Amino acid sequence: MDLNKVFANNKNWIKERLATDPNFFESLGKGQKPELLFIGCSDSRVAAEELMGLGPGEVFVHRNIANMVISIDLNVMSVVNYAVNQLQVKDVIVCGHYACGGVKAAMQSADLGILNPWLRNIRDVYRIHRSELNAISDEEKRYDRLVELNVQEQCVNLIKTAAVQKANRDRGLKVHGWVFDVKTGKLIDLKIDFDKYLSKIMEIYHLE
Ligand SMILES: [Zn+2]
Repeated sequence: MDLNKVFANNKNWIKERLATDPNFFESLGKGQKPELLFIGCSDSRVAAEELMGLGPGEVFVHRNIANMVISIDLNVMSVVNYAVNQLQVKDVIVCGHYACGGVKAAMQSADLGILNPWLRNIRDVYRIHRSELNAISDEEKRYDRLVELNVQEQCVNLIKTAAVQKANRDRGLKVHGWVFDVKTGKLIDLKIDFDKYLSKIMEIYHLE
């Protein structure tokens, strides 16, 4: 890729933005008040803002391999705490995607070095839902289902945090699980029942 093209693209982008709103960058410079926190996969096909039709200033984004929410990952936990407590986002979204390389890697027996501890968290999702997954004979369908269950478990991990519990109680913050289908471009809401999970896990994970 010719990186000069990126800078040429940037110039065009500025021109286009200013043509529709002459104050666009002046407003951006004043600060941000995004209402969404989007936690997605680093996969180059998951173009967070673009697939939602949103632009600069509208969504706070965190991406990592396989959209994981791991309680001892200082990076994701800092993003969640800042977005929920400081930016006061109204909705938190975990967005997985079909054909996720991270999820696929976790379904295979291979030593992937530094990725092992990261992917182990997905293997744990497989273990929790082993009976449902093993009952799916079609490998592709089993893989798709693991992508969905991984999103569900990462939503549960969010619900385990004090920041999310407190914001839910105080101002109705909600957690959503979505999947992006890279083959069709469709965004699918898994309709995860936030309140059900909240009440189910609170007995053990209640912090606030
Ligand atoms: Zn992925």
